[in-house]
Amino acid sequence: MKSDVLIIGAGGAGLVAALHAKEAGADVTVLTKEYPTRSQTCMAQGGMNAVLPNSERDSIEAHIANTLKSAQGEADEEAVRFMCSQAPNALAWLDSIGVCFSRTQEGAIAQRTLGGASAPRACYAQDYTGLKILHTLYDQCVKMGIESESEKIFLSLLKDADGAVCGAEILDLKSGNIEHYLAKAVIIATGGYSRIYGANSTNSTASTGDGIAIARRAGAKLIDMEFVQFHPTGLKNSAILISESARGEGGYLLNSRGERFTDELQPRDALSRAIHKEIQKGEEIFLDIRHLGEAFIDKELPQERKLAKLYENVDPAHELMPIRPVAHYTMGGIAVDHTSQTTLEGLFACGECANHRVHGANRLGGNSLLEIVVFGKEAGINAAKYAKEHDFTLPLQQEKHLVKEIDSFTNEIDFYKKHQELGDLLYQKLGIMRKRSELEELQAFVEDVFQELPRMGLSDTSQVYNTNKKEFLEFINMLEVSRIVIDAALKREQSCGAHYMIEEEE
Ligand SMILES: Cc1cc2nc3c(=O)[nH]c(=O)nc-3n(C[C@H](O)[C@H](O)[C@H](O)COP(=O)(O)OP(=O)(O)OC[C@H]3O[C@@H](n4cnc5c(N)ncnc54)[C@H](O)[C@@H]3O)c2cc1C
Repeated sequence: MKSDVLIIGAGGAGLVAALHAKEAGADVTVLTKEYPTRSQTCMAQGGMNAVLPNSERDSIEAHIANTLKSAQGEADEEAVRFMCSQAPNALAWLDSIGVCFSRTQEGAIAQRTLGGASAPRACYAQDYTGLKILHTLYDQCVKMGIESESEKIFLSLLKDADGAVCGAEILDLKSGNIEHYLAKAVIIATGGYSRIYGANSTNSTASTGDGIAIARRAGAKLIDMEFVQFHPTGLKNSAILISESARGEGGYLLNSRGERFTDELQPRDALSRAIHKEIQKGEEIFLDIRHLGEAFIDKELPQERKLAKLYENVDPAHELMPIRPVAHYTMGGIAVDHTSQTTLEGLFACGECANHRVHGANRLGGNSLLEIVVFGKEAGINAAKYAKEHDFTLPLQQEKHLVKEIDSFTNEIDFYKKHQELGDLLYQKLGIMRKRSELEELQAFVEDVFQELPRMGLSDTSQVYNTNKKEFLEFINMLEVSRIVIDAALKREQSCGAHYMIEEEE
């Protein structure tokens, strides 16, 4: 199997890249370990930031300023300028392919305020924004004849005789066979790594950092891995997200005494810390949207109501929602330049797995959907251009790695339990507030788990549709990513945005 551009990941970033690479004349193949319409992008609720043309209450300069402020000096101003100034085009493109954004009574695209924004800027489709975007992108891919293959698990990158990336080794879940997909250019669009925190995350179970671990093994540079965003309002028991749109539409945060204790629309890092401090004092924290009224909630926040009823057994039209901050978005990722090319020849990256330096130490709500559309396009166009100008040279170089040895591991220790333990420890010690001594304890724990890996083999040894094998491969990737995040956190001694260090006695 050989294409011009191979895209691994069929979330918003991967599908946007596919459409633009195809439009640029490339022959494109898209692979995903799930189904394209199930990718995590479909969980995005609150909206996508874009200043609408001729806006009287907002400006692109304000969008840039808000993004840079939230990033706390860790973003690249040029990249932020590019993203924010492209936002109106990105929105117009989505509108033109049929994304059904909510409208005002006058027929304009409706906008709401998310945390850290100086004006209502997030364009939304009720609270189903990501779902509507992803499904429309998928429809468009089908229309353009882009081939997308499901249940294909990315294992490693292939390199040509000169060391340029020229494809991927894949485990086909259905047959259990190992396959090689060759390409002149490869784009990794495999999403973030919040699931290293196990059940303490709002993310899809697929957000296991596979692409990041694999790119690193192949020698790609990663940056800012210590920056993990904790969303202030995960449901207390299930960690299911109650979107920022609930606060954007006027929701309050209350402590056990029913008092508001903070500004609900400050950036996520500061708000999560404010909630965390209250919880440490023994308070229970609640999100209150009762005063918005049932009719409004059903019109603008229908998914939030359904999620709270389903996962927390509370009806937010009439009851308080118990919440806690949980791991939500990973700012760190594969380093890319302004053309979305990684430090490896022939390898591009976009979406949450990549770091285009637009979020810095703390992403602004609504800027991730924007990033995947703006930089997904850049990755697609630039990979197609690269593929026109390059072809690979044989023979291929094969990578040696642990994942190839797992069939010989013994099944003495349950890796699912280890993941749960790892996730809880990361949440406690690599969470909203971090201490050096606790990071060192974590580091020792992770190294011990690495030692134990050969005794954590598979309980299911069947060849066909072996989800146990897929999940073990994901666990190994999460372990590797956890090690990298802990090391990065230890190296950055000063607090910055989502990376908040406290003194030992605090
Ligand atoms: C609950 C929730 C709500 C959110 N709300 C908003 C919002 O309102 N606004 C906003 O801007 N952002 C929001 N975000 C963030 C935003 O949704 C994500 O950052 C964005 O969708 C990531 O898109 P992506 O294409 O990079 O990755 P994903 O959508 O995660 O797609 C990754 C793809 O890679 C595939 N993949 C992964 N590993 C492998 C592998 N080993 N082999 C093959 N395929 C693989 C997956 O199957 C999937 O197809 C939200 C996030 C969550 C969790």
